Amino acid sequence: MEYKYTGIILKKRNVGETDRILTIYTLENGKVRSLAKGVRKPHAKLAATLENIILADITIERTRGLGKITGSIIENNFTFLKSDCQAVLEVFSSLNLFDKMVDFESPDQKVFHLLRDYLTAADSCVANENKEKYLLLRLGFTVKLLHELGYTLEVKSCVKCGNSISGNAPTFSAQHGGVLCPDCFEKNQEAAIPIHVNAIKMIRLFLHNKMSTLSKIQASENDCDSTSLVVEEFLRWNM
Ligand SMILES: [Zn+2]
Repeated sequence: MEYKYTGIILKKRNVGETDRILTIYTLENGKVRSLAKGVRKPHAKLAATLENIILADITIERTRGLGKITGSIIENNFTFLKSDCQAVLEVFSSLNLFDKMVDFESPDQKVFHLLRDYLTAADSCVANENKEKYLLLRLGFTVKLLHELGYTLEVKSCVKCGNSISGNAPTFSAQHGGVLCPDCFEKNQEAAIPIHVNAIKMIRLFLHNKMSTLSKIQASENDCDSTSLVVEEFLRWNM
């Protein structure tokens, strides 16, 4: 059987003398793996179209098992992104997390579009020399991905009692998945970390805006760092 996919290459692993196994997130079938046979031979026809961080139309022939990739046409090579080491590191870190979080063969169009839009946003950030936005985009992508997969960071109101947390030294409990008001923090003596009010605002903006517009958010390095602490804590607890 021949399957045609629109896919984003998440990672590749060398096997045998000249082959690779590719992990691809496809629009049609979610995360899949397939064999790129002979792709490490000199002048292999498909080699350049089966690299990391590529959006491509990919053909896979399979009756059972991994099958093999028989065609690939690049739709977007994210060329700007790949010209900047720091941006590539941020994106690889996002792709690693993505790979861990999504299951095989559970397609989700929203998740596919989120990933595609993240790579596109990171690419234009590099093109516009907007280096200070790399971390913000990664955080925004992570928060939105968690939301799509059913792990929303609750920052609207206290996750325990539902009261407003406006400006009253809120804390964040990864265990409960959201912010706690000072009362609930006192009462429950929860293991929680302080959360800066700007981090709460940033997470709200991430949740309420499209991936393609997140680079417009104005945030200081400190705001990004304190948001990053909260997101890391959440991932440590939930993933
Ligand atoms: Zn409360």
